[in-house]
Amino acid sequence: MPPLTSIEKLDLLSLTKVGMEKFVHAQGWKPYRAEQILRWMYQRGVTQVEHMTDLSIQDRTHLGDIATINWPTITDVVQSRDGTAKFLIRLHDGASIETVLIPERDRRTLCISTQVGCSLDCRFCLTAELGLKRNLTAGEIIGQFLCVQEHIEKTNKTPPRLTNVVMMGMGEPLANIGPVRDAIQNMIHGRCGLGLSPRRITVSTAGIHHKFKDIVELGVNLAVSLNASTNEQRNAIMPAANQLCSLPDLLAACRSLALPHRRRLTFEYVLLRGVNDSPQDAVRLAGSIRGIPCMVNVIPFNEIPGSPYTRPDEATILEFQDILIRRNIDTYLRKSKGPDVLGACGQLGASARQML
Ligand code: SAH
Repeated sequence: MPPLTSIEKLDLLSLTKVGMEKFVHAQGWKPYRAEQILRWMYQRGVTQVEHMTDLSIQDRTHLGDIATINWPTITDVVQSRDGTAKFLIRLHDGASIETVLIPERDRRTLCISTQVGCSLDCRFCLTAELGLKRNLTAGEIIGQFLCVQEHIEKTNKTPPRLTNVVMMGMGEPLANIGPVRDAIQNMIHGRCGLGLSPRRITVSTAGIHHKFKDIVELGVNLAVSLNASTNEQRNAIMPAANQLCSLPDLLAACRSLALPHRRRLTFEYVLLRGVNDSPQDAVRLAGSIRGIPCMVNVIPFNEIPGSPYTRPDEATILEFQDILIRRNIDTYLRKSKGPDVLGACGQLGASARQML
């Protein structure tokens, strides 16, 4: 029999703690071995089974014969003037995704992808133009964190840790809920995962409402991309998402969601000039989210080459924000990070597009 290629081997990065315990049991190994293997990968950043030196040589050889660690490869890093860095990452089958590092004063946030391309067709988003190539595995989702952390360690004298994760890169996380959930479990596990607090992880969705509970149950934050103040508007700019769940149904789902004590939803609202940016839109938006424990992230459109949409002027943006604030809604204006390297929201996929 020819030797198995790494693609056919089991990817250890895709197993949760429970999955690893089952795997270890199936090899006839002691249960503690599961945590040993997980700690090697997530706490010591080991990329090869051979380096797990507290396993006997015989066990390492056996493990290496049947399993692998599909560590993604960083093929390019584009540095923005504002400190944001966009990583082009190649997966084991040759597919490419993008991951963005956003350093701020006391935090370093990694914006990670959950699909190659995207299953939705939001008209203002560059990733949508790629279509869906495939879902990422749990290992490929958490692998973005691991390889960027390693890059930071290699390139800094006193390397800082990544502190936050937002699943706002390429793809719709809730259309790939199984791997997203498994990756989050490994991110938040204290003893044998990355040990990130769930409060530091945010999953952003275009509105696949029947999966909201799965995210909230993990204790992580949920962000919902509303982007419109009427159902007609939303149909025009996010047709696929709005077909899955109309704006009224989406708002009802958000209202009835049982959030943990003192937690709130984030609503995202992309401001498109002349489409959804009028004072009436702001008033309608405020009215429709009244009473929901939430905050609103207003995201002025990040320009995409060839897009029919444009960014509103500064005065319109500030007035929109002001109307929400005056109605007692916690509102944040999302500064575009890395627009000069097409690393901002909705700009991911340009490099992948060139490679198709
Ligand atoms: N599919 C998920 C996550 C990826 S998009 C979602 O829709 O939430 C992350 C955020 O970027 C969403 O709020 C989306 O509406 C926003 N976005 C997409 N394209 C944009 C663009 N060109 N300018 C500004 N924000 C954009």
